[in-house]
This record gives sequence, structure tokens and C-alpha cells, in this order.
Amino acid sequence: MEEMTGILPQTSTPYSEFGKHVGETVTIKGAIHNIRDMSDFAFIIVRTARELIQCVYSPEFSDYRLNDNVVEQSAVKITGKVVKSETRDGSERYELQIHNIEILSAPVAVPPVVISKKQINCDLSVNLDNRPVTLRNPKERAIFKIQEGIQRGFREYLTSLNFTEIHSPKINFAGAEGGTNVFKLDYFGKTVYLAQSPQLYKQALVPVYERVFEIAPVFRAEHHDTSRHLNEYISMDFEMGFIDSFTDIMNVETGILKYIMELLTKEYAPEVELLKIDIPKINTIPCIKFKDAKEMCVKKLKNITDMKDFEPEEEAFLGKWAKQQFNSDFLFVTHYLSKKRPFYTMDDPDDPDVTLSFDLLFRGIEITSGGQRIHDYNMQVEKMKRLGMNPEEFETYLMLHKYGAPPHGGLGLGLERLTMHLLGFKNVRYASMFPRDINRVTP
Ligand code: ATP
Ligand code: MG
Repeated sequence: MEEMTGILPQTSTPYSEFGKHVGETVTIKGAIHNIRDMSDFAFIIVRTARELIQCVYSPEFSDYRLNDNVVEQSAVKITGKVVKSETRDGSERYELQIHNIEILSAPVAVPPVVISKKQINCDLSVNLDNRPVTLRNPKERAIFKIQEGIQRGFREYLTSLNFTEIHSPKINFAGAEGGTNVFKLDYFGKTVYLAQSPQLYKQALVPVYERVFEIAPVFRAEHHDTSRHLNEYISMDFEMGFIDSFTDIMNVETGILKYIMELLTKEYAPEVELLKIDIPKINTIPCIKFKDAKEMCVKKLKNITDMKDFEPEEEAFLGKWAKQQFNSDFLFVTHYLSKKRPFYTMDDPDDPDVTLSFDLLFRGIEITSGGQRIHDYNMQVEKMKRLGMNPEEFETYLMLHKYGAPPHGGLGLGLERLTMHLLGFKNVRYASMFPRDINRVTP
């Protein structure tokens, strides 16, 4: 009887180990990414999980005879000799002199979009329509490798601070933030809602674990078609108890971002280089109060009519200001108006018109909202009533307050928003593998 050992045999030599095998015969597995036929020899570029490996075919050293069955996107196993290749910049590179090619699987059609060029050259909508194929392009897939790094950084940093990773339900009895952008769902005859955020649940877990975080999809029925909104996005959330001030949360976020940028620099160098990412240097992040920021915007920009919130152009202006004044790509704006923040937000005891809350702007766009939450039962019930909400509908949420909760707060950081601005994209859809927007639910 066969028995499993738990050890996966290595049947393909990773490119990173080629240096140890110069002059030796190795086997690689991958997809044929590109074939460049030079008449008496050919370059066959093989795409593995993270690299492109240059293989050279020549009747001089290949036992295999190149034929029409060897086409782009075939899954192949290639055996060959590792040789050092010449590079213009003198860096160490290796290639494989092909001895043999085994075709493991062949496509039945040519890709609808050229994916073997440096980048995809088609409209965004065509790119998105053909996502299972276009994501194979090295630049496209590098975007989501970077996104992996961002999530890893968030997770690793918070784990190091003893946060517990949680998963809250996405089918809920109430929308966390309320408002019109909640998706309703028929649940065996009852109306339920898709989670707009894990807010109510992560708060409930503060008295349990003290510090929790979640990386998961959330749903917003955005009725508009903008370059920064998706209907399903990945929210990176945390919530922590026993805070002394809401600035504790901003400090944790500053630490997370520093850690993420260092991780990307250290462990995602190939993608950083391929995408020419300008990694922000973070020392400290400056803070400004909403009121002061608004005053400045009103002075410097024309036609500001909404005094309660920022227009995108104001955020852009504040982003530039932070860069000029503090050489910072990030800016915390604090003390947003109570009227504009959700019901669970703690008002400032010194000025109840404003809240102990903040947004983080990255290069002039909001990527985070956060703040201190109400932990006192009576205070929460009163605020709900003041806002015209029925506390009875939130009975299970209010168990948190009723049975005792420490001072706490947290934040939500949009993964696609952060990726988008890190990579300098004009549209958030470039930073979503399979975006859902008002016009798109496929593929
Ligand atoms: P905005 O004002 O940009 O619409 P918001 O204030 O409604 O965002 P929050 O509820 O504060 O959003 O959500 C926290 C974070 O989640 C935002 O800072 C942003 O990074 C991200 N986010 C919010 N809505 C979307 C969306 N529709 N698509 C992608 N990311 C989003
Ligand atoms: Mg917000």
C-alpha cells in the first residue's frame, strides 16, 4: 500500500537555484510564454510561478526536434543544461540549453489577447473580460503578487502584536454602516444584508481577544461608476481594546505601513522592479484636524461648497500639501464631524460636534477610515436614538456594551485602494483580479 510522507518531491528546479547547477542537467516545468524563432535556433521563454526562464533550442544540442506542437501556452516539462548567459548590464543570468521537451498539455486556441509582450496592450474592459488569460502576463500577475505582500505585511505585523485573526459572517441581519449602499438578499423569505464591513463583529470580539483583525471581502452597492469604487473589495480591518487614545490606532497603522513597505522592498523585489513601484519612505506620518484642513482647502481652492466632508479635489490638494510640507506620501486627517461618521463612532468629549476619528490619505486619496468606538451602553443607545435608529434592532450588537467592553477602536483599510495608489493606477479595477462594479459581474 502506498503511504503519504507529507513531502512533496521536487520535480522542477526553480530558477533561483540555477546558479548552483551551472553545467548540469536540470528539469523545469512551466508554460511556454513566448517562442522566438531565429531560423537556425529558437528562444523558448518558459513561464514558471514567478519567473520567466529563457531556454534555447538548437539542433546542435537538442535531442528534440522543434515542431508545430510546441506552441505558446502549452504546459511543458523541459530538460536541459544550465549555462550562464550574457547580459548587457553584466548581471548574472542563466539559461537552459534544451535537451528535451515533453508536452504535458496543449491549448486548443490562441489567446484572445497577446499576453507574451511586456505588457497587455488593450482596453481595460477587454483586459477584464479575458482575466483568466490576461492575468498570465508577468506584469498583470505581479500586481497581485504585490497585493499578496501587502496582506502578508498586515497579517504578520498584527500577529506580532498579538492580534487574533478572525472571520466574521458576510450574511448579516443589519448593514454595519447603514445607508443606501447595502446589498439586500432574500434569505428564505427574510431580508438580510451582505456585510459592508466586519465592524459590528470585530467590536464584539474585543472583550474576547482584546485585539483582532480580518482580511476579507466586503460588499458595497455603489450606484455610481467611479474609478475608486468596487462593489466587492477586500477590507483589511483591525480592532483593539484598552486603547488610551484613538492615536494608538494611528500608531499601529503607521507601524503596519512601514512593515509592509519594508517587506515589499525585501521580498518582492522582482515585482517592485518589474512594475517600477515607487515605494514610499515612511518615517512618521503627519496629522491635521479636519477643521484646519477644511480651512486650508477653502482658502486655496475655489467652489468648495460641502463644509462637512471632502471632495476628491480637496483630498488631492491635501496630499500635495503633505508632500510639500512634510515630504510625506501619507496624511492623517482627524476629528471628522459627528454628523458624517457612523453611529458607533466616539464623539470628542471636549467638542461633541467632532469625533475621535481619522482618515488616512495616501497620495491624496482616502485609503482608511478609523477611530475610537463607543464602549458605554447608555452612550451608544442614546446616540442611536439621536440618529433615528431603533436600538432594539441592534440587540445582539449592543450585548457588547451591555455586558462590558473596554475602550477600543480600529480601522478599515481598502486593499485595492492601497494597491492602486502604490502602483500609480488611475482606476481601482487594475488592482482587482476579478472586479465587480455596477456593470460587471463576470468573469
Ligand atoms: P469613500 O469615501 O472613498 O467612498 P468610504 O468612506 O465610504 O469611502 P469606508 O467605509 O470608510 O469608505 O471604508 C474604509 C476603506 O475601504 C476606505 O478608506 C477605502 O480604502 C475602502 N473602500 C471603501 N469603499 C470602497 C469601494 N467601494 N471600493 C473599494 N474600496 C473601498
Ligand atoms: Mg471612509
